[in-house]
Amino acid sequence: MRFLFLGTGSGSSRDSRRFKAGIHVDDGYNSVFLDMGPGANLRVEDYHVKADHVFFTHLHIDHFDGVFDYMVSRKVQGMKDLTVHSPPGFQRVLSSFREIGNQVDANVEESDLPRAKVGEMEIYSVKACHAIYAVSYVVTDGEKKVVYTGDTSEPCEDVIREIHDADLVIHEASCVDNCKQFGHTSAKEIISMTNDIKAKVILTHIPTHLEKEIYEVIGNKLLIARDGTVFEL
Ligand SMILES: [Zn+2]
Ligand SMILES: [Zn+2]
Repeated sequence: MRFLFLGTGSGSSRDSRRFKAGIHVDDGYNSVFLDMGPGANLRVEDYHVKADHVFFTHLHIDHFDGVFDYMVSRKVQGMKDLTVHSPPGFQRVLSSFREIGNQVDANVEESDLPRAKVGEMEIYSVKACHAIYAVSYVVTDGEKKVVYTGDTSEPCEDVIREIHDADLVIHEASCVDNCKQFGHTSAKEIISMTNDIKAKVILTHIPTHLEKEIYEVIGNKLLIARDGTVFEL
């Protein structure tokens, strides 16, 4: 599987070096998007990638607001409607945009724990620990297992259970130290929790204004994704 980071900034990121959350996953035959925050939809065009499914971890703006612009882009290009897998609430937002005259369409599948099989790729979710209802996704191709946490504060029981036997963990790191009260995980917490994890860990959801300090805490112990980073396993 190939993971292309479309957006690696946190909700609080202040410039365009890191757009908001988005990952493109491709197993060589099929592909999906995990989250599509503001700007991640533009990276889709920059990197010439496609997918007909998007899976949202939660409905904070930095994780899903890019999708509406992407729907317009698909319509203009004559592409088929996107299938959106989301925790409950997305359809309401989409309907509001339609009511005020936007021609945005999607096949929406809402569930507390979204899951789907796309070709040989199986995507399922577990409950994350965040400020609003949120899930983390597990992506498997029958051989490798990857966990994408989305936003979560650790230790989060269901997420930790999935991380335990994963090959790759894409984890959020939203601050240097202490952002638990906002439902996030700090770089310092990641360092201590990954001591007993065998998986490769890549950090994302990085605030650009804290980037330097986060790099100092992480050192060369873990990878930190940037927009455009590709990881294959
Ligand atoms: Zn976020
Ligand atoms: Zn969030």
